[in-house]
Amino acid sequence: MIPRFDQLSEEELRKILLEQQAILDNASVGILFSRDRKVATCNLRCAELFGYALPELVGLPAAKLFSSHEAYSQLGHTAGPALAAGSGFHGEIQYRRRDGSLFWARVSAKAIDPQHPHDGTIWIVADISEERAVREALAQTTHEQELIFNNAAVGMMFARNRIVRRCNRKFEQIFGYAPGELVGQSVLLLHPTVRDYDEFGSLAYGTLQRGETFIGEQRARRKDGSIFWVRSTGCKTDALGSPLDVIWIFEDVSARHQVEEALAQAHNELEQRVVERTSQLVATNEQLQAEIFERMQAEQRIWHIAHHDALTGLPNRSLLLDRLNQALTQAGRSEHRLAVMFLDLDRFKSVNDTLGHHIGDLLLKHVAMRLREAVRAVDTVARLGGDEFVMVLHEIQTPDDASRVAEKIIEALAPVVLAEGNQLHATPSIGISIYPDDGDEAYALMKNADTAMYHAKAGGRNTYKFFTAKMNEETRRFFGFEQRLRNALLQHQFLLHFQPLIDHARQVVCGMEALVRWQDPEAGLTLPGAFIPVAEETGLILQLGEWVLREALRQNGVWQAQGHPALPVSVNLSPRQFHHKGLVDSVRAILNESGQPPELLELEVTESALMHDANQSLDKLRRLADLGIKLAIDDFGTASTSLAYLKRFPVHRIKIDQSFVRDVALAGEDAAVVSAIMALARSLGLEALAEGVETQEQLDVLRGFGCCQFQGFLFAHPLPPEQAAAVFHPSGLP
Ligand code: C2E
Ligand code: CA
Ligand code: CA
Repeated sequence: MIPRFDQLSEEELRKILLEQQAILDNASVGILFSRDRKVATCNLRCAELFGYALPELVGLPAAKLFSSHEAYSQLGHTAGPALAAGSGFHGEIQYRRRDGSLFWARVSAKAIDPQHPHDGTIWIVADISEERAVREALAQTTHEQELIFNNAAVGMMFARNRIVRRCNRKFEQIFGYAPGELVGQSVLLLHPTVRDYDEFGSLAYGTLQRGETFIGEQRARRKDGSIFWVRSTGCKTDALGSPLDVIWIFEDVSARHQVEEALAQAHNELEQRVVERTSQLVATNEQLQAEIFERMQAEQRIWHIAHHDALTGLPNRSLLLDRLNQALTQAGRSEHRLAVMFLDLDRFKSVNDTLGHHIGDLLLKHVAMRLREAVRAVDTVARLGGDEFVMVLHEIQTPDDASRVAEKIIEALAPVVLAEGNQLHATPSIGISIYPDDGDEAYALMKNADTAMYHAKAGGRNTYKFFTAKMNEETRRFFGFEQRLRNALLQHQFLLHFQPLIDHARQVVCGMEALVRWQDPEAGLTLPGAFIPVAEETGLILQLGEWVLREALRQNGVWQAQGHPALPVSVNLSPRQFHHKGLVDSVRAILNESGQPPELLELEVTESALMHDANQSLDKLRRLADLGIKLAIDDFGTASTSLAYLKRFPVHRIKIDQSFVRDVALAGEDAAVVSAIMALARSLGLEALAEGVETQEQLDVLRGFGCCQFQGFLFAHPLPPEQAAAVFHPSGLP
């Protein structure tokens, strides 16, 4: 029980006062006694709080301690009634320090005597600035978190035991619910099926129970039942044990899933396409490979065809030249010799003509084979065409090596070739040129070997000859001669002599043969034997022949105009002329041009020319006969004419070759031949004329065989046209 002051002694009062002063001084809160709206007294802590020295504070108007007069009067309104009611005032007030700064304090106030409020009020002031700062910070944080929570771009949800306790707006939006609609609901709502709910639960809650963060993506269900993809991140908020509190963050990843699915789909399609395209490519590639292979094969075939002779399979001219050039380069480097051999089969043409091309081909094949076997594998054997073969002997030491090979070849070809029952002999003529002795390039070597081959042929056949410089000399002469012949034609150096044909039975001249001569300014009058072969070989005979025909017809016309009897004129055709395809047209044209009747022209074709290609000859003779002219077989007996053809040839006369006439009087073989020819002519109804009759004796024997027509020096030499008298009236005739 507190004693009453008036009952206490001064000493006791002083003691109480001291005690009270100590309490005031040591209090950790500010204690202030106010009266009449002024600070009546306060403790040290209070002065500290307000930043005043204790004496300064005493007597200070209370309003000064407030943040503003409004705040002061506001407090008066709120605190006044409470104080008056005696219940006291409790609150938080913002004060002002002496330096003007503000601070918060928790305040408890009580009137000393509620009945008499003017007696004063006790204020207990505790600085709560720090506490408020913490509280405000907390509130701020909470506020911020709330803001984040409500404005987050992700859905957030707090669940306890899989019941939604709280969620943000975004979460509701993601799942299509109205605000607050989900609170208190089971998260089962959010899964497409119960099974999904269970599976998710066992998957996620296992992780969460271990205290780990669960992150997963799964299908979820909106309120409207539509299914979408969410990415969920969950972590347990509570401490160990139940209940199970989990904060979930959800993101709608449907768009990404769609993109991913689209991507995956595109990827699959792409892969599919790649697979398809790859297999297409493989197929195309295989086809291409096959085409390339085929093309290569075709090209190889074409190359082979282009470079080989179809009949024998040997290299042809172009490949030969290739090989020869290569061999020359090589020989040049290694300083070796090299031989080029030209080979021509003797009388191959007659095999072709008499037995046919088929047999000729068989013979060529055999020859090709034997040649191939006669030389080394490195050597080249080529066929240029016809019966012409060329061999290149690579790298030989001396010309003797080439001789040995040539001999070997002649030996290899010696055995009889059997071709479909025919026994054939293939004998070669070989010409050889040597590198570098006879030339250092392909063309010269080939030409020289060719030249040597012609000399081998001329030198007796079935033999070989090396090229010599002298051969070229002859060749040059030949070409020089050709040039002179051409010139002769231009310069009108040719002329005709005429020799009468005698019909002895009737004692008349029955015709005359035109024989060409060359008035050579160098050599004088030259006989045809000296230039006809060259003209024949060079082709000049065609022009010369036309000139002869034209001139013979012209001369005959002149004679007729002079009053001489109209006799047929005989003109010789060379083999080349006869076989030339333009012959018939040419003869027709010249005949027309001359104005001479066709029956006054007789053409002489040698027996060998006719038999060269008997079928073609037959055709040509018929076309000539159709012109109305006469035809005679010249040099008869020198070639073996087949009787079958002779019967069909539209000729009217045969001219027995003078080689049989020469010795006909000796009653030998020639006489027998002439006698036989006469019998043949009689049986075929042909006239027979004996050429080259020089003596009376010959004439008598021939007449004895029944021959009536003659030509020869006995009657007249070939004479120039000026000596017409002797031509039309030869000696030996009346
Ligand atoms: P061929 O057609 O057999 O002409 C007969 C040849 O015998 C002529 O020689 C003639 O002079 C000669 N001859 C005539 N009677 C006798 C005789 O009693 N004894 C001797 N030993 N010879 C006689 P030629 O004029 O030298 O003509 C030679 C060959 O030249 C001709 O032989 C003929 O094949 C050819 N020839 C002549 N002129 C031409 C022509 O214009 N064109 C063609 N393509 N060849 C012709
Ligand atoms: Ca003749
Ligand atoms: Ca003749």
